[in-house]
Amino acid sequence: MSSRTRGLLFIVSAPSGAGKTTLAEHLVQILPNLRMSRSYTSRAARPGERDGVDYHFVTREQFQAMIAADEFLEWADVFGNFYGTSAADTERLVAGGQDVVLTIDVQGARQVKHHGVDHTSIFVLPPSFEVLERRLRGRSKDSEEQMQRRLSAARAEAASYVDYDYVVVNDQLEPTVVRLQEIIAAERSRTHRMRGIAEEIIKTFRP
Ligand code: 5GP
Repeated sequence: MSSRTRGLLFIVSAPSGAGKTTLAEHLVQILPNLRMSRSYTSRAARPGERDGVDYHFVTREQFQAMIAADEFLEWADVFGNFYGTSAADTERLVAGGQDVVLTIDVQGARQVKHHGVDHTSIFVLPPSFEVLERRLRGRSKDSEEQMQRRLSAARAEAASYVDYDYVVVNDQLEPTVVRLQEIIAAERSRTHRMRGIAEEIIKTFRP
């Protein structure tokens, strides 16, 4: 399949609580050609979460068998649970011309980069640590111990923004979604991705 018809792969990472999932959900509603990838996880479904919708929920053993069979584009152990993106699912979507967004942690993003898969990475920062903590405490039913674990992970993860192609500060939802749309539009217009279309146009210029 020509590179012109392949979709683009976007990675959105952020410290937990910075709002990356909400942002990605808004983006896929606005952009018809963009889909969220559905990850596999070994963690138990939370109330209201559905298998095959929010995640593919699998056992630790099933997950480990998938690791052994090299089925993941990336995977990570996050807060004691496994999370991973199926390489085949992602390739099927991208090969079919669909743009795909992965909302994954920094360990996963590193692996995608390492695999040499063409992608664009975006890091979402909260306006400050204080805002992040307020958002996390507002939505969470975590114990204080779990909360401290998330906060210290956030401290460590935030510094990884330097490894990403773009950085977006999630101050308010709507302007941040617009900024992400702008990044996606800019990436689609990159010369190497426009070559097929541009060459068709250039043909019409020939005398
Ligand atoms: P939660 O359990 O709250 O749904 O997700 C916990 C963390 O796991 C989040 O930071 C989320 O970005 C990350 N995560 C979810 N799916 C994946 C995945 O497929 N790969 C990686 N590396 N991280 C993931």
